[in-house]
Amino acid sequence: MNYEGNIIRPPSEAHSIILQITVGCSHNKCTFCGAYKGVRFYIKDAASINDDIAFAARYCQNQKRVFLADGDALIIPTARLEEIFSSIRKNLPWVNRINLYGSTKNILRKTVGELKRLKELGLDRVYMGLESGHEPTLTNIKKGVNTEQMIQAAEMIRAAGIFLSVTVLLGIAGRAQSTLHASRTGRVLTKMKPNQIAALTLMVLKNTPLYNDIRTGCFHLPDQRMLLEELKILVKSISLERVQFQANHASNYLPITGRLAKDKKRILEIIEDGLNGRLHLKAEHQRAL
Ligand code: SF4
Repeated sequence: MNYEGNIIRPPSEAHSIILQITVGCSHNKCTFCGAYKGVRFYIKDAASINDDIAFAARYCQNQKRVFLADGDALIIPTARLEEIFSSIRKNLPWVNRINLYGSTKNILRKTVGELKRLKELGLDRVYMGLESGHEPTLTNIKKGVNTEQMIQAAEMIRAAGIFLSVTVLLGIAGRAQSTLHASRTGRVLTKMKPNQIAALTLMVLKNTPLYNDIRTGCFHLPDQRMLLEELKILVKSISLERVQFQANHASNYLPITGRLAKDKKRILEIIEDGLNGRLHLKAEHQRAL
């Protein structure tokens, strides 16, 4: 495969064929994100993508899913995406799902009709990063979009019949706004109605503006206890009947999975056990991105 730079994918795509159709992220401004710092964003040319599809056709016949990297494949014009999806269907007929990261701005640039067309061609799941439903936090971290836009983009993905997975980031509001971040994020998630919620915990990377904010005393990381309180408020604030909830990423101190609303009581009990020392929390050195 013609991979360039860091290849980032969601944990659930560990067994997918990773087809890199863009390099980097067209936004690349989020203060906590070091994934593509210093990487010039561009869309890969057809020859390079076709080479990789041909490689996958020979060597990846046991992998049933494709993940389209990097940061926001939906920036590609729909007509070109349709060509790529059609080529995947033709050359990798055993692939039954195509998944990708979708940034809010680039989802909003599409129409529901275009998203439906991509769904027909195999687009199964879009991973969106909400990070926070607290408006001042979104501004501080330079996410580049507001909660209304996030909700609108989520509605479009759902209207197209595509599975929506939304990521939020515990700790991203710092200590002072921790509680508000958790409750507002729960409220926005309720409006977004995703199929899946993934709550990750902030890990500070040295190549990010956030790292400098911490060094200069402008940002104060919540401690483990505050992060668990944040998680508790978040779970309490989500009012959805049916959503997968995962806080079992390698960055989380206390691995939790379940379905809301069915498992809400059990999840809150687990968090309480973590807060009261009845459950072991992951040591700092065991956390990873
Ligand atoms: S978090 Fe996502 S949108 Fe923000 S810079 Fe990183 S890849 Fe780009």
